[in-house]
Amino acid sequence: MRLLLASRNAHKAREFGRLLTPHEVDGLPDGIELPPEVGDTFAANALPKARAAAAATGRAAFADDSGIEAEALGGRPGVRSARYAGEDATDEENLAKLLREAPAGSGLAYVCALAYVDPVAGEERVFEGRCTGRVAASPGGEGGFGYDPAFLPDDDDTGRTMAELSDAEKDAISHRGRAARALLRWLDGR
Ligand code: IMP
Repeated sequence: MRLLLASRNAHKAREFGRLLTPHEVDGLPDGIELPPEVGDTFAANALPKARAAAAATGRAAFADDSGIEAEALGGRPGVRSARYAGEDATDEENLAKLLREAPAGSGLAYVCALAYVDPVAGEERVFEGRCTGRVAASPGGEGGFGYDPAFLPDDDDTGRTMAELSDAEKDAISHRGRAARALLRWLDGR
């Protein structure tokens, strides 16, 4: 089926395009406004975005809210991961702040809440995926995005950061991969 992604993040669009194969993922049409992320949880931020896209188009839509939780920081930045170093912070600024504040070797978790809304069937679901890891001693790798150069995933024993894994390797263990496969299983089982 064709699914509408309620996000303008090009990195996420690329990952979901791969992850949700054989379904087709369409980008958000211009002019559809998404609600601001003001929730305390990933699910509370993902669901309104999927609802807004579904209501504006009448089509099945999905949205994710994701981020990173650092054990040494009591779970921060969490839902504020995209804005950790300031409202308009770049990925590089957010990454540098995490590396300044969380010691090398301390625990990390990527979290993804994936909301799916089908306005015709009247269905709403949220699927969650997690991926645990550790803070790298120094950033490494050119792949992925965001905090990936600092993230040493527990599920990979080669000592590479998430940014050093291939797309397929990241998809197999990532928070977004796990949430997407939960959505796929549910779509297939309907
Ligand atoms: P949002 O879901 O658009 O609020 O953004 C989540 C933020 O979390 C991104 O801007 C990244 O900083 C971070 N993030 C989420 N998923 C990943 C990932 O797979 N790799 C690296 N950073 C991520």
